Formats: sequence, C-alpha cells, structure tokens
Amino acid sequence: MIHWESHACLPLHPDADFTPIDNFRKMGVHYVSINVGMDMNPVPQVMSVLGAFRSKIAAQPDKFVLAGSVADIEAAKAKGAIAIGFDLEGAMPLMEQPEMVALYRDLGVRQIHFAYNRNNSVADGCHDATRGLTPLGKRMVQAVNEAGLLMDCSHTGRRCSLDIMAASSKPVIFSHSNPLALVEHGRNVTDEQIKASAATGGVVCISGVSAFLGSANPNATDMARHAAYVADLVGVQHVGIGLDISFRQPELNDNPPGNYDPVYWWPREAGYNRTIARMEYTPMETWHLLPEALAKVGMSDADVSLVMGDNMVRVARQVWH
Ligand SMILES: [Zn+2]
Repeated sequence: MIHWESHACLPLHPDADFTPIDNFRKMGVHYVSINVGMDMNPVPQVMSVLGAFRSKIAAQPDKFVLAGSVADIEAAKAKGAIAIGFDLEGAMPLMEQPEMVALYRDLGVRQIHFAYNRNNSVADGCHDATRGLTPLGKRMVQAVNEAGLLMDCSHTGRRCSLDIMAASSKPVIFSHSNPLALVEHGRNVTDEQIKASAATGGVVCISGVSAFLGSANPNATDMARHAAYVADLVGVQHVGIGLDISFRQPELNDNPPGNYDPVYWWPREAGYNRTIARMEYTPMETWHLLPEALAKVGMSDADVSLVMGDNMVRVARQVWH
C-alpha cells in the first residue's frame, strides 16, 4: 500500500525548510506532491524554487527522492525515504507555449492544473467568469497528456473543467477539491464534475482546508465524511487525499514581487474574508487517524488502502511515463 498526499505547499522561496516534508515521511506518507508555483508567481520565482527544491531533495537521498515513476515511489518506500513530485497551480508559468509542459516535466513537475481561481489565456478559474477551455487550452491538454503529467482540475472553472475532462485522453484528477453537495463554496466541485472525473478513470482527492470541509477545526472525521460522499456517488476507486496544508515560515516572504494583489486571487465575494483567509488545515497527523475514520464511514480495509493512495498509484501508472 502506498500513502499518497496529492498536494502540499512550502513557502515559494529558495530557503524553504523541508522539515514538514520529512515529517510526512515520518508519518508514513510515501509520496507527496509539492507546489512550485501558482499563476500569481512569475517564472523567475518558479525557476528559483525549482532549482532550490531539487537541490534540497538531492542533498538528502536517504530521506527524499524526486519521483518520476511509481517504481521510484516503491524504491523510496523500500529504503525509508519519501518520494516527491512537483505541481504547478496554473498555466501562466507555461507562457502560452505547450512545449513548456515537457520542460517542466523534465524538472520534476508531475501534476498541473491550468487556472488558479482566476481566468487566464488557457483556462477559467473557479472564481471568475465562465468561458470554457480556450483553443490554446485544448492544445495544452494534449501537451499534458503527451508529456505524461497528471491533469488536475482543482481551482478550475466548472464548465472549463468539464471541457478539460472531455478533451483529455488520460484520467483527470482533482488533487484537492471537495464535494459542493456537502459545502457550498466556489472551490468545491459539483456532482457532475465528480462523475466526469470518475468517467475518465480519475480520482477526487479530499482537501483538508477548513472552509472547503465546512469545519472550524477540521479533522479526520470531516475528511472521511467528504470521502464517503464521493465514494457513494462514483465508487471508492475514485477517492483520494490531498490535505492541502500550507506550511508557512513567517521569516520568509514568498509573495510575488511587484503589484501583487491577494484580493484579486482570493476574492472576498468568493468567501475569502479575513476569517477564511486565516485558513485552518487538517493536521498531517490525520494520516494516522484516517484508517479508523474511513472504517467508521463503512469502508473495508481494501477500500481504505485505495483512498489513502492506491487509487492515485493506479492513475499515475496510466499517466506518468
Ligand atoms: Zn490549491
């Protein structure tokens, strides 16, 4: 069994401390996808982070392995290390060039979604006007399929995500998104989106963020409630975990340079008021509590293994190459 954490964020700064990733390792997590850039982060910042993160991983091979395949994850597990892949949250770092997808793949990026809350030239964000996938976006989906990255639709506009799932020749996931039927929030996904992801063979990974879980003190029981909803709707083989913890280091300023406006990226009218901006995260210790919480909502041991990672292993085997 592989424990697969579909999304975590370190400070987007070259001095980011990797202790939280080592803590995931100690927690028994075998693979974690780490964010290396969002649409608001300019390419020089993304490159600086990629260079630094690759170096930190390479410097501690007993603890960290940059994973390119499921075999790499299994090898990391066998020696007590944690496998790491990078993810991009938005298509803007691709600079409107589909061939950039393969370049990022070669740098360790294994997962991408196309729009961070707001629209861009490729796709719609979930907190912006509805247009649908652009012609450039269709070419980008093809580039993601060909380069062998996980196509993700978190943070993406609803209609646009359906367009992406229709265009993709490979399974499409939501790496950190929760059912709208349980919590009304623009970041959460409709039954139609969940069914469309399942129809591609994809996985919906439950986010541990308080506002999306509908819980002030989010915990394993909340995660299990959302996981059970998706399992009941489309089957347990389409459920995963993406706790979505942002590990902050107050001494590091990782804001994008220039005229960075957080209210544009997290609009107040979408529910990111002052209280929600101070998000609460389901703690990483949840990994130890999840088996019991998932069992309590009726899942068998085999179901629990699927949710905690083996579903994502199945998708990665189909997508990565
Ligand atoms: Zn995110």
